[in-house]
Amino acid sequence: MKKRDISNIKISDRLKKLASLGRYVFSEMAEEKKKAIDSGIEVIDLSSGNPDLPPPKEIIDALKIAADDPENHRHPVYQGMIELKSAIADWFFRRFKVKLDPEDEILILIGSKEGLSHLPLAFMNPEDYALVPDPSYPAYKRSVIICGGKVHSLPLLKENNWLPDLDRINKKVLSKSRLLYLNYPHNPTGALAPGEFLEKAMRFAKKNKLILCNDMAYSEITFTGGKSNSLLEVNGTKENILEFHSFSKTYSMTGWRLGFVVGNKGLIRKLREMKANFDSGVFHVIQKAAIRALSLPPQVTGEICRTYENRRDILVSGLRNLGWEVDLPGGSIFVWAKIPKNKSSRKVCFELLRKTGVLTTPGSGLGSCGEGYLRFSLTAPEEKIKEALEKMSNHKDIWGG
Ligand SMILES: *Cc1c(COP(=O)(O)O)cnc(C)c1O
Repeated sequence: MKKRDISNIKISDRLKKLASLGRYVFSEMAEEKKKAIDSGIEVIDLSSGNPDLPPPKEIIDALKIAADDPENHRHPVYQGMIELKSAIADWFFRRFKVKLDPEDEILILIGSKEGLSHLPLAFMNPEDYALVPDPSYPAYKRSVIICGGKVHSLPLLKENNWLPDLDRINKKVLSKSRLLYLNYPHNPTGALAPGEFLEKAMRFAKKNKLILCNDMAYSEITFTGGKSNSLLEVNGTKENILEFHSFSKTYSMTGWRLGFVVGNKGLIRKLREMKANFDSGVFHVIQKAAIRALSLPPQVTGEICRTYENRRDILVSGLRNLGWEVDLPGGSIFVWAKIPKNKSSRKVCFELLRKTGVLTTPGSGLGSCGEGYLRFSLTAPEEKIKEALEKMSNHKDIWGG
């Protein structure tokens, strides 16, 4: 029997539309990495936002204990365990001085990506717009496209300190917009947002009846002198806000898939209603361990930050020595580096991988304004980062020529 050619399978229009955007950059890079390894190249992976540090031991211990209790293996509670949500409310108060009602103002997510991706399905109709920073984490744009919505890009430029210029948004687009995304500390530029900007964004969102979706995946990963703000602490309202938090980076729990969203009760309820159609909540063993994570003293994440900060300093000064223009990121686990000569970021990325084994993310994969940049992640030990810089120094032709 002839094998059926998979390329002939009829796919949905929404998947076709996604395909027209290009592949999801991180799955493409994972494939490139595999190819390089198969062909004998020794790869130093600075491409993904996947922490290499282990989660703190106390959290793993709590996971093991929770796994021994048969009760924790039953069907999870959809919206998340109240014990975890109360622990989140306590943590949120200690960290931001904001009170949350655990019952109604917090929803547990299977990683913040899950919540972010289901969000447009709950709040957008076809032809509605979402205002999405460019460059940014790809899930915002792609989930808007999946639900049939339209994306209006907000260019993030160095001369504006990587903040969107809200006053320049086309009025017609604005009147049809439903969602505004923000993400500081920012992936990929590492920028933080000053409180005044956050206040301005909140006023802007309120005036234009937008839901402000604030992605705080890196809220706890900041470096000397910097601290992130929750939108909820900025002027005390939760009115049109959904703020997404994650355990992935704060506690190096990426593989566990655990995050949460806080904010307006009505919005939380609607997101929960939508999401209940797709999943059945998070394994209670993981939620129990997360309660332990939130009870750890701030020094624990402080130490994680210092590790990234030391790597950052090595990478930034090394890249500068090689002639790259690089800002010192205030937070996140990335360094956003401008390619010295005007060359395509994909080309430089692939050539770098082939000739040096150093794997990065091409800026263009994170939005068209990311063209001309490479994103280096800080998820490898200092020796590996030094080795990557050493290898790059022998191949300056890749970006210079
Ligand atoms: C890593 C990341 C996420 C996803 O985090 P999970 O909780 O693991 O799903 C969301 N937003 C940004 C900007 C990220 O870098």
